Amino acid sequence: MKVLVLNCGSSSIKYQFFDTVEEVALAKGVVERIGMSSAVLSHTRYDGDGIKIAGEILDHTIAIEYVLGVMLSKNHGVIDDKKDIEAVGHRVVHGGEHFTDSILITDEIMQVLQDNIELAPLHNPPNIKGIQAVKRILPNVPQVAVFDTAFHTKMPPKAFLYGIPYELYKKHQIRKYGFHGTSHSYVANKAAEILGKELKDLKIVTAHLGNGCSMAAVQNGVSVDTTMGFTPLEGLLMGTRSGDLDPSLILYIMGKEGLSLNEANTLLNKHSGLLGISGESSDMREVLIAANEGHKRSRYAFEIFAYRVKKYLGAYAAAMGGLDAFVFTGGIGENSPEVREEVCKGLEFLGIELDDQKNKNKEKIISKNSSRVPVLRIPTNEELVIARDTNRIVEEIKTKKA
Ligand code: ADP
Repeated sequence: MKVLVLNCGSSSIKYQFFDTVEEVALAKGVVERIGMSSAVLSHTRYDGDGIKIAGEILDHTIAIEYVLGVMLSKNHGVIDDKKDIEAVGHRVVHGGEHFTDSILITDEIMQVLQDNIELAPLHNPPNIKGIQAVKRILPNVPQVAVFDTAFHTKMPPKAFLYGIPYELYKKHQIRKYGFHGTSHSYVANKAAEILGKELKDLKIVTAHLGNGCSMAAVQNGVSVDTTMGFTPLEGLLMGTRSGDLDPSLILYIMGKEGLSLNEANTLLNKHSGLLGISGESSDMREVLIAANEGHKRSRYAFEIFAYRVKKYLGAYAAAMGGLDAFVFTGGIGENSPEVREEVCKGLEFLGIELDDQKNKNKEKIISKNSSRVPVLRIPTNEELVIARDTNRIVEEIKTKKA
């Protein structure tokens, strides 16, 4: 099946066009600065041919029309007709408790997505805009929503409930949801495949370390705990997000600095993390350069980042009663041997022995042969998971109808 995968943000749309039989991306690209007169579409075809188109792209519908235009174009395109797009899969950040799997989007489902906006005010509205835009442009093409939260919906209450009055969970659905589910699920499956074992027999900790960072404890193929929470702010230190902190601290800062709710939210989500501690950058590459040049705050940022990953690894090994594999993924997890080394340092007691050379060479398995717990470096592919799920859901519905 030919599936267009869309990841719609507030001012950008990332897309990939997949052939799900061959599992290859025929084209990929991004539209940036939607809503501005200086928007840019960057498109790359499977054969490396690329094009950049600049122009005024005022909303998501126009952006998707641009994408279809370039996909159909004679010189840079990959399809002859809009009909070649058999289905569209959307990344939807928050599915709440309602969505435990990917789902075909109907009017009824759209309503539930609208109802979930409160839970993800920044992320869900652009996801919904993208779905509405596709409905306008490709009215007969089935659309599937794939949720970041779905993989974590089997967590037990002891992992997802917070220590606040239970009524608040019932009244406002305040609980841990977890995010990056497609990535954790993809790399856990891939790890089992690489190790030649069944996922259902394994206890795996996956660390998705990108701009946003989260870890998951994947026991017998099920996410039993994860570091992100009610929102993506909880857990690990991230590019600009604080991760875990004493909750009363924010009330104290608000009082001391006279911050509004919005300002406090911005402080924790945009000015904290690697950026806030280093004062230099939210990008681990730049933090590492500064740290290696002797910049103290950047060294702290790097060390805190790795220390949190190490702590959660230990916590999740304890939670699952063992550890069979540890996986790094995401921009930092895939590309930074320094971070992987710092995380794994001193974990021999847990059965983890990193191999310096394999780690530097970016091999799939980066632990020593003698390491009881294999450590893996697996490039994530969230778009492929979305394409696979879209194909599965659409095929299931075709079979039911037949
Ligand atoms: P997102 O979470 O937005 O999908 P990515 O997973 O692509 O982002 O991760 C982006 C981050 O990866 C960058 O901010 C940068 O910190 C980090 N990164 C990329 N390459 C390297 C590298 N060679 N060394 C360290 N960090 C890197």
